[in-house]
Amino acid sequence: MELILATNNQGKVKEVKEKLVGWKVYSLKDKQIEIEIEEDGLTFEENALKKARTIANLTGMLTMADDSGLEVEYLNNAPGIYSARYGGEGLDDVQRYEKLLDEMKHADNRNARFVSVIALCYPEGRDVTLRGECPGIITDAPMGEGGFGYDPIFLYAPLNKTFGQISLEEKNKISHRARALEKLQRFLNNQPCQIENDLLCAQIVDRGAEIRHLTQKNSGNELLNTDLESWNYTAPILFPILARPFDGKGYCYKGTHYDMHPHGFARESTFLLKHAGENTATFILSETEDTLKQYPFRFYLEVTYTLNGAHLHTEYRVKNTDDKPLFFNIGAHDAYRIRKDYENYTIEYEKEEDLKQNRLLIQKESNPASEYVFPDKAKLLPLFYKENRAVSYFSENLRSSWAQLLYKNKPVVRASLDKDNTDTSGFRNQ
Ligand code: IMP
Repeated sequence: MELILATNNQGKVKEVKEKLVGWKVYSLKDKQIEIEIEEDGLTFEENALKKARTIANLTGMLTMADDSGLEVEYLNNAPGIYSARYGGEGLDDVQRYEKLLDEMKHADNRNARFVSVIALCYPEGRDVTLRGECPGIITDAPMGEGGFGYDPIFLYAPLNKTFGQISLEEKNKISHRARALEKLQRFLNNQPCQIENDLLCAQIVDRGAEIRHLTQKNSGNELLNTDLESWNYTAPILFPILARPFDGKGYCYKGTHYDMHPHGFARESTFLLKHAGENTATFILSETEDTLKQYPFRFYLEVTYTLNGAHLHTEYRVKNTDDKPLFFNIGAHDAYRIRKDYENYTIEYEKEEDLKQNRLLIQKESNPASEYVFPDKAKLLPLFYKENRAVSYFSENLRSSWAQLLYKNKPVVRASLDKDNTDTSGFRNQ
């Protein structure tokens, strides 16, 4: 296992070598490569990708490159990608941070973050970007002699010291670069991708781009049902079909019959991680020989998870990369952990829903509907009825944009749709 690190900075080479145990890490110098690559991207990701891609194409080897900088909120995230050249060419580090302090003279908001983005480019074309961030506060005056760049004016609140006042060893445990390198380590060791914010932590596996764990940080509570013996999934993505195919086994397209499992193939497919940041990760899937046999369409599916406060936001983007219309459904099937006193759970819809027009299923019962009289219209539904049998209510012409699970009348988890309701959006409680 070997890779090239597209840098001439020996400090970076040393830090990466220390983190990537078991990997042979070459610098550009080791490979006798002398090259100037212009950093003309508009983001850290673009700059890092450009460097790594250039070297990967040149050498045919797995290549890693990074780009980093300081983002200051009061300055609309400047100096950002221009951190090394802030204030123009010819300034030294001290002149650069003095200029920044001068611009911050009247700043009420001194929040800032160091950002480090690692790009990994495979010779055959795959790209991944990994972003580490370290939040801090811009001081009024420089403190400490250590470090480089903006270190003396960057206060790291948990230690109440600037990066100029701590040892390199200490900095390498907490810095933006260390965090990006941890993500790289996880990625290269095939560990699940981990994203987090102050409240939540999620782990996502490549198979199905499925969230395996979703935990509350303060209590350590796991929110998902992670008992894979009871069900083989935790939160599968359903694509390109929801529930059963039209004739139970498959469907017909242009006179040909295609077999397809209920809920499609995405949940069993290996997605590729494209980007991982502190609180967000994007996975992609496109057609393979195997998918084309069951679904004769070329497609590009991108799924982005973002933790935002107490919310997990999921965005699906489906791109038609074929030259014919693409037919698909997409859905989420998250399984949340609940207690055993099922009778205390109800599902609440935002708006009253017309139950009569919709299908009602009771799991594992021959003729259950007669045993429970459902109202024609309702906002509240039991999650279970009688002897803990699950009610499955599938709404096709849904009015609500959210539905939530209540325990003893208190909300526990809510699923909301961002898009206006359409005939194809819905919630199904099960
Ligand atoms: P590069 O990623 O090596 O091109 O770094 C860009 C610039 O961001 C550096 O020249 C520094 O000005 C700034 N920078 C990046 N990381 C740090 C850090 O850890 N401490 C201080 N300044 C940094």
